[in-house]
Amino acid sequence: VEETLKKFKNLTGQLRGLHAASFLLQWDAETKMPPGGSADRGDALGVVETLVHDLYASDEIGRLLEVLEPYARELPYSSTEAGLIRFMADRYRMETRVPSELAAELATLSVVANTAWREARATNNFKHFEPYLARMVDLTRQKAEFLSSTGNPYDGMLEYFEPGIDSRFVSEVFTPLRPRLVELATAIAANGGAVDGSLIRREVPAEKQLAYGREVAEAIGYDFQRGRLDTTTHPFAWGTGKGDSRVTTRVLIAEPLDCIMGVLHEAGHAMHLQNMRDDVASTPLAYFWSGAILESQSRLFENMLGRSRAFWTAQYPRLQAAFAPAFDDLLLEQFYRALNESKRSLIRIEADEVTYGLHVMLRFEIENELINGRIDVADLPREWNARMEQYLGLTPPTDSDGVLQDVHWAWGTFGYFPGYLLGSMFAAQLWAALEKDIPDIGEQIAAGRAGAVLAWTAEHVMQHGGIFTFTELADRAVGGFSAEPYMAYLKAKYGDIYGL
Ligand SMILES: [Zn+2]
Repeated sequence: VEETLKKFKNLTGQLRGLHAASFLLQWDAETKMPPGGSADRGDALGVVETLVHDLYASDEIGRLLEVLEPYARELPYSSTEAGLIRFMADRYRMETRVPSELAAELATLSVVANTAWREARATNNFKHFEPYLARMVDLTRQKAEFLSSTGNPYDGMLEYFEPGIDSRFVSEVFTPLRPRLVELATAIAANGGAVDGSLIRREVPAEKQLAYGREVAEAIGYDFQRGRLDTTTHPFAWGTGKGDSRVTTRVLIAEPLDCIMGVLHEAGHAMHLQNMRDDVASTPLAYFWSGAILESQSRLFENMLGRSRAFWTAQYPRLQAAFAPAFDDLLLEQFYRALNESKRSLIRIEADEVTYGLHVMLRFEIENELINGRIDVADLPREWNARMEQYLGLTPPTDSDGVLQDVHWAWGTFGYFPGYLLGSMFAAQLWAALEKDIPDIGEQIAAGRAGAVLAWTAEHVMQHGGIFTFTELADRAVGGFSAEPYMAYLKAKYGDIYGL
């Protein structure tokens, strides 16, 4: 076993290096690269990603795992070694089950489908995208059938992005939640006049936004000795390891809070890597897949902490000073309410905490039915609009504001959306547990000491990286996943803001 382990760790070390290289190539492409670099960069990234795939799927990994899987079952379940072996075995099966011709065809299609999607969205012409999407659904169904172990092909896609979770689990969480969210969103809409979100849309120069962005990131515990902040169009975060984990945000002059909330969200992700255990962060477990675990950390810092009254009690005078004179005349309470405006809207990425979940549910249901052949691609705009009307009381005026708004399906990324909502729900559950463990956390935060939040979540979540699946981690951190803390959180907070 010792010799086998040595070989195995050599290979996982190579994988970790390739992930880091891939991240840096992408980070640079999104932040610094001149426009002329995109073709060469695409080629370079393609080479690295192929090496990554080939390594995860290599015969050598397969042979080593034959020895190491039984060995791992003898180890403590939570040990890094056992977690790494489980993770690699999972990836090996995922990457080897799909025939390489099918994987290659999907990769080629995703490039042309992505271009067609852009054109279709720019010209509001679903028909232009339809044949590409139909082919994408068809190939994805074939791929999913190789991956699924339940009889529902969509589960194969879910399993890929969220190991251990199937569509039954997601349905059992989402279905009872939907009417409760619809009810809350409807009650808020009836009282919509109580909050005016436009109060915080004020022009602030880019340098001031970024300077305060750095300040607020430090206030939640982000370590600039092991990170940096840059601007991009579609913000993201991660790094090459715990010594270099980076944040990006975007700057809109007339919407300074967009930049700040982006920093809080992405710093949540970047701190996840900064706070992993050393022996986890130095393996591919640092580059794990679970969207629910990843999003739970970004949402906790963006929403539960970053949209709370306690946090802004300490931070708002600093924001006013940093943005002076733009916010001089706006009171803390007005600011807090405007920051938490809830409004039923058409676009998922602009949605607030209450309505966001409804956008995700709609996509989950439609994806599941598409891959299972219960919806035809041609009927997609009608299906989309009917559900928008039912869940959010809105009908998109154009398909560009409706079914064409997200890029995921053009990439062939089916099964990713549920993680966004599961992550938000888990964040609320973690927050409730944290408040129980640290009864005076609200006072600490309001006094400008938010450090206990990071310390708590580093201990319960971040340190583990990808050792556990989402449900395993929820079992350990909070005694099992539950939707109740999420609804309780939304009801208490928005009931207060909207006087319900
Ligand atoms: Zn995120």
